[in-house]
Amino acid sequence: MKGLIKSRAFNRKYNYHGSDLGVSYNAQVSLFKVWSPKAASVSLVLYSSGDGDTKLEEIPMNLYAKGIWSISVHRDLKGVYYTYKVCRGESTYEVVDPYAKACGVNGNRGMIIDLAETNPEGWDTHSIDIVKKATDAIIYEVHIRDLSIDDYGNIKHKGKYLAFTENGTKSKDGMTTGIDHIKELGVTHVQLMPCYDYLTVDETKSTEYNWGYDPLNYNIPEGSYSTDPYHGEVRIKEFKQAIMALHEQGLGVIMDVVYNHTAYSEDSPLNKLVPNYYYRTNGIGRFYNGSACGNEIASERHMVRKMIADSLIYWAKEYKIDGFRFDLMGILDIQTMNYIHQELSKINPNIILYGEGWAGGPCGIDESQRAVKVNAPQFRHIGVFNDDLRDGIRGHVFEAEQKGFINDGVDTEESVKFGIVAATRHPQINYAKVNYSDAPYACSPSQTINYASAHDNLTLWDKIEVSMEDASLEEKVKMQKLANAIVLTSQGVPFIHAGAEFARTKGGDENSYKSGDLVNQLDWKRKAQFKEVYEYYKGLIELRKKHPAFRMQTTREISEKLRFLEIPTERVIGYTLNHHAGNDEWGTIAVLFNGNVEGYKVQLPEGNWKVVVNGKRAGVDIIETIEGSEVEIEGRTAMVLFKA
Ligand code: CA
Repeated sequence: MKGLIKSRAFNRKYNYHGSDLGVSYNAQVSLFKVWSPKAASVSLVLYSSGDGDTKLEEIPMNLYAKGIWSISVHRDLKGVYYTYKVCRGESTYEVVDPYAKACGVNGNRGMIIDLAETNPEGWDTHSIDIVKKATDAIIYEVHIRDLSIDDYGNIKHKGKYLAFTENGTKSKDGMTTGIDHIKELGVTHVQLMPCYDYLTVDETKSTEYNWGYDPLNYNIPEGSYSTDPYHGEVRIKEFKQAIMALHEQGLGVIMDVVYNHTAYSEDSPLNKLVPNYYYRTNGIGRFYNGSACGNEIASERHMVRKMIADSLIYWAKEYKIDGFRFDLMGILDIQTMNYIHQELSKINPNIILYGEGWAGGPCGIDESQRAVKVNAPQFRHIGVFNDDLRDGIRGHVFEAEQKGFINDGVDTEESVKFGIVAATRHPQINYAKVNYSDAPYACSPSQTINYASAHDNLTLWDKIEVSMEDASLEEKVKMQKLANAIVLTSQGVPFIHAGAEFARTKGGDENSYKSGDLVNQLDWKRKAQFKEVYEYYKGLIELRKKHPAFRMQTTREISEKLRFLEIPTERVIGYTLNHHAGNDEWGTIAVLFNGNVEGYKVQLPEGNWKVVVNGKRAGVDIIETIEGSEVEIEGRTAMVLFKA
């Protein structure tokens, strides 16, 4: 089998192109189709519930061309649960349909469902008025449970999809929480951490916590975020309600998707249906582990590529998802990523696609074939996270004490400048001095996701705490503000880790994927405590949204209109955006960053400069006017000025 699956003969004989895998349901008939070449027999097992000893019937399926097993059941199966029993040699395995669209508790059985009945009222026609271009997006990464689980936030549906449908929630300090907070902050897109069905949280309990990077059922929402994980239709409807609520606030919805590996390896339904096909294995059948989670998906094989594309198309169509963030995208092959873009843009030409341009370890196919950052020019419609900028701003992601631009780091300027130009080609960058990229990888600014922190690793605040122990609270707050002032004014696509706007802490826990609510939750008390940071981020977001100069759309325009100033000192960066960049109403904009404790005098072009961002405030209102060509930027602050 192992040699076979890579052979042309196998592909010719078994590659299936139909779009009807899974269950096709109507009240008269349900048609089941599953791909399992080489199985001795496959049968459909029906159950009256998603768990327990409730078997109704076992029906043998028939083998058709291409290794497709199929059966039609001529009665209304709505609400019935099902599995497939696969026999091979002496062994029989019972598996969940990889194309199941609904399931029972903990995803152990698929479910037959009438999807039309899961649509909330108004779903078909609800307005999705969100920004279209990736460079106009401001992405906010949040875990569904983290948003609402803290009592202090006064959100009723704690930890649930439905929390997104609650308006008017306020903390005990009277500050907005939940979806109102997100809306008020002004971001354009919410990136939801894994919300497909994952393994590690027991859905029968309400206390368990996990980030969810362990996929079980790719086409079903996670049950623990629903009010009833037992009845498969509930999680679907509630997830749609959350999506619709976000859309109605003008917010786009991006799903974090983990097609690079599955929770189970040898024992996964995929491997039971077609051994050695879905995962990359070495010469002696051992699973490659580029995910560091036990296996890696062989995306380059036809039926795997098809499975991933079918899944994404389904989320985009059925759930109206506006974008996808690919976990460890560097494991997936380039051809698959381009195919995904091609197919998804038929549904939504403005779909936003980006991912982590790296893997978690050595992979089973060569790096030249994979969607890693350095290969980004080969998948030009898909963005990658800019870790050069991230570490340039705050210091190395794994070495807690290493410092960056905001916290006294050395030689970080080029990495920050690299982020400012969105990792594109710019005549004033010395690429040899950039953290990890010795060349511009982005073909256009939409290919770069700029960030200072994300769910992984230390939060920005914790990194500042660890690396700058002796600094005062006031100094640390300045660093927290400066970090995302860089991100939110840079060209490219800015990304904010939820809670960074009120100095989120995880108590120094870097890999908090199962550390529970107290570590992970958005602690709404901090919003009042760090109101200054919150107001500052909000002002920067307003500035970015109102001024297209920060959102130029081409590499060429950036290289022509963005000019770095010659500044002969460390940890001070300045640049101008000239000639109404991006068709901005402002003729020239100057952006300055000072990572030092001390203030510094910068020489600007002569003019009548109006300050809209300084160390204290950010926004579009004029704070003061500076005549002439010299401006002093205070220590550890950002400044934005403009002149007609
Ligand atoms: Ca689950």
